[in-house]
Amino acid sequence: MSREYDTIIIGGGIIGNGIAYHLSEVQSDGILVLDKNYPLSGTSGSTQAWIWIHSKSPSWYAEFSLYSAELYGYLQRKIGDIEFDRAGGISPFFTETEREQAFKLAECQAEVGIEIQVLNREDALAREPALSPKILGAMYSPADGNVNPMRLVEQYMRASKKNGVTFEYYNPVTGIEKQQGSFIVTTAKTVFRCKKLILSAGIWTRELGKLLGIDVPVKPVRGQIIITEPLAPLMKHTLSIMRQTSNGEVLVGNSQENAGIDRRSTLDVMIETANMAVKYVPDLAKAKVVRGFSGLRVMPEDEFPIFGVVPGIENLYVAALHSGITLSPLIGTLMTELITGGETSVPIDRFSITRFA
Ligand SMILES: Cc1cc2nc3c(=O)[nH]c(=O)nc-3n(C[C@H](O)[C@H](O)[C@H](O)COP(=O)(O)OP(=O)(O)OC[C@H]3O[C@@H](n4cnc5c(N)ncnc54)[C@H](O)[C@@H]3O)c2cc1C
Repeated sequence: MSREYDTIIIGGGIIGNGIAYHLSEVQSDGILVLDKNYPLSGTSGSTQAWIWIHSKSPSWYAEFSLYSAELYGYLQRKIGDIEFDRAGGISPFFTETEREQAFKLAECQAEVGIEIQVLNREDALAREPALSPKILGAMYSPADGNVNPMRLVEQYMRASKKNGVTFEYYNPVTGIEKQQGSFIVTTAKTVFRCKKLILSAGIWTRELGKLLGIDVPVKPVRGQIIITEPLAPLMKHTLSIMRQTSNGEVLVGNSQENAGIDRRSTLDVMIETANMAVKYVPDLAKAKVVRGFSGLRVMPEDEFPIFGVVPGIENLYVAALHSGITLSPLIGTLMTELITGGETSVPIDRFSITRFA
């Protein structure tokens, strides 16, 4: 016998959990979140977790990201401490060409309400004394920040459970069929039936889409991060390659590799990352690295989020995207609006999966 729900969300990462929480605020029961592993076992547990706005391009994408950043303060008040820190973001530069590009970017972003100050060396060092004196300057924006992704998922789940959401872990979805207005979702342990189905399984969304004959063009892009021992407060801002957590650890890394589904760390990238850390913040040369990890970015073919309805299959929704930490509250809000009322407060047409048809 199958277990019935109104809505099943496949994927218990930051995206699936964000949607579950926001949806549960307006739909009191009948929501199930399914995951093949445990919360944070996917990309959401292996991320930098910057809430990053200012250098996103084109400007409409930065503006979209800004809307999400604006929601974080309210979210934290509603679900509890997620170590949200709107520290401001700094992108240092080392060449005159980069300085020129920074001025151009600042002009574009100003048109959509994103403030970027292009600082000279002295002003950048005054704002962020940990930076290398070898920089030529830096972009600074108060729009950016960071969050603790572990706390975020934990608090989403706690609040969702209070609102009646059910969670099922260590239970992979192996089959999906559409039958007479319902989806039959077969898992390793049981069979579920639901009216609405949301595919938010990160890089595995492509695999799940195939079960329904749709292509969700996302691929894994590996990123490797090194983590230092907890250090005394060293940097005040989120830097474009690193951040310091509230307990003092520094997470460094922005590597990008097409390595398939392979989360191993490699010595060459770790060394490159360590060198880059010291180039930006020389004091890190004295820090001890305590561990490293790698994660698989959920990268859509054109790099922009894929979310919304899947035309042609009634009540099927998809949400697969990079920058999921930045965008989580906005995606959760917009998907809830879409699922419950069919319309969204922010236009989302450009994010439709139909653009790949
Ligand atoms: C190194 C790195 C740095 C990053 N830095 C940032 C950053 O600074 N800021 C930012 O905004 N974003 C950043 N990102 C991106 C961000 O982390 C992701 O966009 C986000 O975590 C994606 O969340 P998700 O819920 O879509 O996927 P996931 O967290 O991967 O969740 C998907 C879930 O689906 C489950 N699943 C898969 N298949 C099945 C199945 N068949 N049945 C049941 N469950 C299934 C998986 O077990 C998994 O738990 C970074 C990513 C990486 C790798």
